[in-house]
Amino acid sequence: MRLVRLIANLGYGSQKDVKAMLRAGRVRLADGTQLGENSTADHDDIRIDGQTLDPPAGLVAILNKPAGYTCSTSDPGKIVYELLPWRFMRRKPIVAPVGRLDRDTTGLLLLTDDGDFSHRVTAPKAKIAKTYLVQLARPLNGDEAAIFAAGTLMLRSEKTPLAPAELEVLGPTTARLTISEGRYHQAKRMFAAVGNHVESLQRVRIGGLDLGDLAEGQWRMLSPAEAAQVF
Ligand code: URA
Repeated sequence: MRLVRLIANLGYGSQKDVKAMLRAGRVRLADGTQLGENSTADHDDIRIDGQTLDPPAGLVAILNKPAGYTCSTSDPGKIVYELLPWRFMRRKPIVAPVGRLDRDTTGLLLLTDDGDFSHRVTAPKAKIAKTYLVQLARPLNGDEAAIFAAGTLMLRSEKTPLAPAELEVLGPTTARLTISEGRYHQAKRMFAAVGNHVESLQRVRIGGLDLGDLAEGQWRMLSPAEAAQVF
């Protein structure tokens, strides 16, 4: 791929912007050699203002989403892209959230430019487990774990019962919930169906990948081996 298009597709600017960056000498090889529009260079060898380029196609990033941010590119309120390099939204394909968390849900959010990866994680057939820490408004009754595990719970306006889910009670109003589907507002609606109300929800795990000690509002790239832990 031509250098200008390669850099523009990574979201650093329009092709016109990138040509201007090249003319200004901002794009160089690791050894300092200045690059021009017709230069060829390996992705890993290119520096812009001395910085390595974002990874090529297939990047997977993890964000510890704070409350108050939506998983969308346009919203009158705050959006998760405000917490990420501005290039992610301009990249082609865009670096998009893998599934969605509600505005008030916190925790593990994956983002990728890889549509196949995203589909493999979110496709209902894939049954990838997602684990949430739940804070409830009212004390648990004690029968919720059995109800969720039975695989018979019907949510309002749904045609099929939920698949079995695992609930581990941590305290009178706290629990760890693991679900393998991704229905709309699923965790909140499950607790509503058993007469409770979710006060706060934090996703801590997807498949075999933990949120770990990533601070709230922080993100980092995942290595291919880490991204594969999801499956
Ligand atoms: N379930 C919910 O209700 N909300 C989320 O954000 C994720 C799962």
